[in-house]
Amino acid sequence: MPKKSTDLHGLPVVKVSRRGANRLKDGHVWVYRSDIVAADGVAPGAMVGVVDEREKFLGTALYSSASQIAIRMIAKEAVNDLDSLLRKRLQEAIAYRDQVVRDTDAYRIVFSEADFLPGLIVDRYNDLLSLQVLTQAMDTDSIRRVIISELSERLKPAAIAERVDPRVRELERLPARSSSLLHGEKTSTVFSMNGVRFHHEALEGQKTGAFLDQRENYAAAAQYARGEALDVFCYHGGFALHLAPHCAKVTGVDSSRPALEVADRNAALNGREIEWIEANAFDLLRDYASAGQRYDTIVLDPPAFAKSKSNLETALRGYKELNLRALKMLRPGGILVTCSCSYHVSTGEFIEVVAQAARDMHRNLRILENRTQAKDHPILLTVPETGYLKCLALAVS
Ligand code: SAH
Repeated sequence: MPKKSTDLHGLPVVKVSRRGANRLKDGHVWVYRSDIVAADGVAPGAMVGVVDEREKFLGTALYSSASQIAIRMIAKEAVNDLDSLLRKRLQEAIAYRDQVVRDTDAYRIVFSEADFLPGLIVDRYNDLLSLQVLTQAMDTDSIRRVIISELSERLKPAAIAERVDPRVRELERLPARSSSLLHGEKTSTVFSMNGVRFHHEALEGQKTGAFLDQRENYAAAAQYARGEALDVFCYHGGFALHLAPHCAKVTGVDSSRPALEVADRNAALNGREIEWIEANAFDLLRDYASAGQRYDTIVLDPPAFAKSKSNLETALRGYKELNLRALKMLRPGGILVTCSCSYHVSTGEFIEVVAQAARDMHRNLRILENRTQAKDHPILLTVPETGYLKCLALAVS
């Protein structure tokens, strides 16, 4: 017998349209506001029972009164003990990483929807944890308490920091809050990936401190790198530091001076000599390419150009431009490692844009590796939004 909305253990009820219900049946976990039929008196961030228009029970979700994503599912069943469910999900997320993560003490422990903990990101940097809250529900005191308690008990971190993205809080209509320590007192540490060491400051830097999603791609790129290398959009030097043991000379480029200062400290930590250049990558690539500068290995890892579907065309032009310049500078037999972290640019579109650049430059490209984000950022097949990173390693002739 399908459960009726009247036996939902006292949960507030949200009714979704047929389109919303079908989306959930297909395995997605989101229902957009436009597919909400009724959510009378449901409080921001509440746990809700979800029913279709015939009152058939579809599962338990977390509700947002502000986001276009009105509900995010957390279980197919009716949940009466949210605390236990959260603890179980965290334990499962930790166990999954124990299985798939190698050669590092820095990785993502919780990846939101992909770990059935929508709105929560937790990254580990050696003995420090860094947490991001993205929704009204994950921001409630009761949920925060359970998460911090479970993470501390299971992982015994020296400290847990919260990294706040003010734009996310504004969109979720949450009161402003600053990044701070939620547990412990330690704010800096050193972590390592693939034998390369990095400084970490819990309350500084972009994202939660590093781009952990590229970890496996660093190791892949290092396999092919040689000669003179250029790491464009280098941030703290993730690629540059991995390329250095295999290359005669490595140069890293970024527009952020604070990022390059950390990159330089990281080079010293690993006993490497790397040249860091503070510049706008587009200008630098144009100038270097026309000045006849040549490289054997180039990495392109720009920020997400397509923040939404509406600027896809501009984003594709940006990717093409960068790849054109890089191809102009690569010597025959060179290696291009080119990335896109825009969810809205598909792998197919990205490959096509790089192929166009190759045609325009009369170069032949062979795919050595067609890669994505590291396994600790799992891609849930029924939630395509969980997969966003593209990373192609190409042999250029
Ligand atoms: N490759 C890095 C991550 C790059 S993130 C890693 O593996 O850690 C994107 C970087 O691009 C950021 O460090 C940002 O400061 C830089 N950036 C953004 N716009 C830029 C521009 N126009 N020119 C140069 N760098 C830019």
